[in-house]
Parts: sequence; structure tokens; C-alpha cells
Amino acid sequence: MAPTIPEKQWAQVVEKQGGPPGYKQIPVPTPGPDEVLVKIKYTGVCHTDLHAMKGDWPLPTKMPFVGGHEGAGIVVAKGELVTNIEIGDHAGIKWLNGSCLVCEFCQTTDEPLCAAAQLSGYTVDGTFQQYAIGKAAHVAKLDKEIPLDAVAPILCAGITVYKGLKESGARPGHTVAIVGAGGGLGSLAQQYARAMGLHVIAIDGGEEKRVMCEKLGAETYIDFSTSKDLVADVKAATPQGLGAHAVILLAVSEKPFEQAIEYVRPRGTIVAIGIPAHAFLKAPVFETVIKMIDIKGSYVGNRQDGVEAIDFFARGLINAPFKTVPLKDLPKVFELMEENKIAGRYVLEIPE
Ligand code: NAD
Ligand code: ZN
Repeated sequence: MAPTIPEKQWAQVVEKQGGPPGYKQIPVPTPGPDEVLVKIKYTGVCHTDLHAMKGDWPLPTKMPFVGGHEGAGIVVAKGELVTNIEIGDHAGIKWLNGSCLVCEFCQTTDEPLCAAAQLSGYTVDGTFQQYAIGKAAHVAKLDKEIPLDAVAPILCAGITVYKGLKESGARPGHTVAIVGAGGGLGSLAQQYARAMGLHVIAIDGGEEKRVMCEKLGAETYIDFSTSKDLVADVKAATPQGLGAHAVILLAVSEKPFEQAIEYVRPRGTIVAIGIPAHAFLKAPVFETVIKMIDIKGSYVGNRQDGVEAIDFFARGLINAPFKTVPLKDLPKVFELMEENKIAGRYVLEIPE
């Protein structure tokens, strides 16, 4: 028997740029022919949701909008063209809600670059609500043994850092510096890096994050807020003092993006993933050339990256800390995030 779907539901709705979101009742959407309706059980809160609320990126959100793009739940309805997933299956809604599937990027597994990509919690309503829509071709199918709370942060943060580590070209045995290691993406990046056989240098601020990073397996923790010479500290933690093979930039401030060139080793790769507003990546041409440095961006992941990142989690290789609070507490989570006070990820529990 098909599940009963109410007409109204609870949601966190952003009605003006800058927020805060309002906790209110809105209609439950109906899936189109190629879409599914997912009853969300848990959803992670990504720093991107805070950027969306503030409107600080040069890409407009829909307005008003429901944020959220790390939603895990159960399929309760589907359109008539959907054949890859059934009512009752567990599913995840990711940042990439849908794409055209036929442009050159979609055809060559670069669907995040699709010009018609739809973004959950940004250009279409996301997962900070009880019932959310996803294009069936893009939702992640989840085995029923996978816990829906712990997997939620994998659906953006996990996939993104896994992809970024692959893009860095770092190989087992190499040393990766993770900047912003104590945050949501950073805590998962440490775990994926370890599972991929990399040595980890974690860079963030404060003692709570030090304790967490050391537990997650960072061999060195460098506190950017107290270090007298961050560049020297990173180099000292690498073999022969040559610098990190790869730098994964996740911090939401510009300075570390400029600093990375000073401690990446010759032939090393700098991967920009964090997106501080109005920031520039400025590097001296001289050092970039004579050290043969590769500087690149990395944006979420394609559907197969999603399958692989979830598989790492399902195999028990990823176990990053998260705190669970009710959906109505989203504004408090944003406040803590703004102050860099979150070690790991917050996951919202969606009311029944
Ligand atoms: P978060 O707030 O959980 O973590 C950011 C961390 O950076 C915090 O722990 C903070 O203490 C730390 N930090 C701040 N300044 C620092 C500095 N100077 N040096 C080292 N660490 C510093 O945020 P998050 O959810 O992990 O997201 C991080 C960024 O990644 C955001 O800008 C988000 O929008 C972006 N993002 C990008 C993609 C992508 O596809 N490229 C995907 C998801 C998120
Ligand atoms: Zn995200």
C-alpha cells in the first residue's frame, strides 16, 4: 500500500536574503514524471546552506527557498517515468538535484558542470523540510542497513572531499594538508584521506578541533590561530621538509588560499573546494612556474563519485563525528557555523 502523504509539512523557509529561516508549514510538493518524493529523516547542514541564506555568492537562489542538500530518507512517491528506484527504497538527495543528462558534460560524467544543473536548497527547494523532490536519475540509492543519520553528511561533504582528493592526484603514501580540517568537509576529508592511504596534516583553530582531528587520525594538527609560522610548521611535518604533495582547501576565508603555495611541494597540487565569498586565488607566477604547481578547483562529484563515496562509508571506513538536533534548531546551527564553532557536522532530525 502506498504511504499516506499529507498536504502540508514543516519546513525551514528563507524568505529574504540574509535570513534567518522561518520554521513554518508549507504544501508538500508533487513529483513530476521523472522525479521522486523523499520523506526526509535526517539532513546535514553544510556551510553552502549558510552562503545560500546570506546570498553571498554570484549565483542567485530561488526565493523564497528551502535550503538543505544532504537529505537521507525514504521514497514515498514517484513519477510515471521512474524505473530505477521504488517506493519504500532508502534514498539520498544531494546538491546536484538534477541535470539535463544530454549535454556534453552530462554525457562525459561531468554532470556538475551541466549548464542546466538544478541545485538542491538553492535553485530548487532542498531537504530542510519533511518531503523533498529529487530527479530520479540523480538521487542516491541507499542500502537499508545504512544508518540515515550518519550517511547524511556523506551526501555532500563526503562526496565532495572524496572527489577533491581524487582530483589532487595524491597517491597512497603521499602527504595531504587539509585546511579547515575541523569542519564538516574537513572531518570527512581526513577519514577519506586515511582510507586512501594518505598521511594527513590537519589545519584548523582551537583545542576542540585539535582533539577531534587527532582522533580522526591526523598525524599532525596545526592551529592556524596560534601558529607563529604556519608555512614552516606544515613543511616540518612533511618528509624531508619538502612540503605537502596536495593541499585541500576547505576554509571559508581567503588567506589560506594564498598561503598554500608556500607549503605545497614542487610538483604538488592545490585543490580549492571551500568557496569564501568575494575571494580570489592569487599565486605568484614565479613560484608557480619554477615549482611546477598545479592549482585547480573541485566541485562536488558526479553520480559515480557518489556511489563510491557512499561505498567507502558502507564498508565502515568513514566514521566522522556529527551532532543531531531537531529541524527547528537550524538558525542556532547557522550561528555556530558563522562563528567557526562546529567541530564536525550538525545533522537535523526531521519530525515525523
Ligand atoms: P565548516 O564551517 O563546517 O568548516 C570550515 C572550517 O574552516 C571550520 O572548522 C573553520 O574553523 C575552518 N577555518 C576557518 N578559517 C580557517 C583558516 N584560516 N585556516 C584553517 N581553517 C580555517 O564548513 P563546511 O561545511 O566544511 O564547508 C566549507 C566550504 O566548502 C564552504 O565554503 C562550502 O560552501 C564549501 N563547499 C564546497 C563544495 C564544492 O563542491 N566545492 C561542496 C560543499 C561545500
Ligand atoms: Zn554542501
